[in-house]
Amino acid sequence: MCGIIGYVGFRPLASILIEGLRRLEYRGYDSAGLATVNGDKITCVKKSGKVSDLEINIDDNSFHGSVGIAHTRWATHGIPSQVNAHPHLDNKEKIALVHNGIIENYNIIREFLISKRVELKSETDSEVLVNLISVLYNSKENFSFKDAVRAALKEVVGAYGIAVICSDEPEKIIAARFGSPLVIGVGEDEYFLSSDPSPIIKYTNNVIFLDEGELVSITRKGYTISNINSKKLISKTLTEINLSIEEIEKGEFPHFMLKEIHDQVHSITDTLRGRLNLEVGTTHLGGISEYIENLLSANRIYLTGCGTSWHSGLIGKYLLESYARIPVHVEYASEFRYRDSVIDSKSVLIAISQSGETADTLAAIKKANQIGALTLGICNVVGSSIARETDAGIYTHAGP
Ligand code: GLU
Repeated sequence: MCGIIGYVGFRPLASILIEGLRRLEYRGYDSAGLATVNGDKITCVKKSGKVSDLEINIDDNSFHGSVGIAHTRWATHGIPSQVNAHPHLDNKEKIALVHNGIIENYNIIREFLISKRVELKSETDSEVLVNLISVLYNSKENFSFKDAVRAALKEVVGAYGIAVICSDEPEKIIAARFGSPLVIGVGEDEYFLSSDPSPIIKYTNNVIFLDEGELVSITRKGYTISNINSKKLISKTLTEINLSIEEIEKGEFPHFMLKEIHDQVHSITDTLRGRLNLEVGTTHLGGISEYIENLLSANRIYLTGCGTSWHSGLIGKYLLESYARIPVHVEYASEFRYRDSVIDSKSVLIAISQSGETADTLAAIKKANQIGALTLGICNVVGSSIARETDAGIYTHAGP
């Protein structure tokens, strides 16, 4: 999981973007970069390594304007290096893009671009996308920057959260999500865009979570949201988030892992609070209580997730089978989504994901929903995609 941050407003751009990247560091990354529109040119600085290495090469005087985008990369296509780091610029150096996710059909698009004599400098799938936007932008008169982003995304198979800027429209960020989360922070005369709310909450508690397939255009005057496949505007309600800065900062700890280790006592207490009835020896999980009958009559239960969530599923299998006497299968979400598992409408799929955004796990849920199985989520992030896509679920309340 890597990060995107965007800003439209009046604050010093470089500082606000670097601060945003720092808040996203906990997600893990191998390189970082940022871009803004300076007059009629894009200024872009990127580096392999830490945000602190990037910061050394940047000062607010070299970043003018009111619009910027930045990124921490976790390489999927091409090694961690300066040239593969984001933002990526198109050949004409008019458009800059940051991307989280994977463009699955990038090879086909790459061949198309090479046939158009586009020169690709990096090994990434993301550079292919910015050049596709550029080719489409330059191919039609009266085609706006936003039209070009929309048209390019219609050609893309894969998962993405993207933010794009263009020197022809220096006041605007276009962003879209399909599979990678994006949230808009709505401030006074300023807007933020981020992979999660942590960089935003210092400035505003009012956010809008973009849903799958949504595209947003942001300027200082406001924002409009539509679907990638339709120009019809969508109205969405603001969500107020209650996260404090202390919760997301390292505090007295030298690094986040140590903080997390010390946080475990509080996290486990918060998770169990109000859910255990010690007198009777039972648990009460409000989120799933109306599905007790479906659970008791299930023919089998699938526990699915990736990485640590999958490992916790292995323990879940032991507990569920010994208490409930229902066969439990633990399966990697990346396998479940593609293979033909024995699951039907009498089965239950329990999906585990801290972020609630894990792409393979989300795809496994969608598949189980189509089959008509009951789907339950165990995740930490309230309002996340997995929480919304499942029939019901349990929040872990572990804190950020
Ligand atoms: N696939 C892109 C790359 O390798 C984006 C990776 C990411 O999500 O950071 O550059």
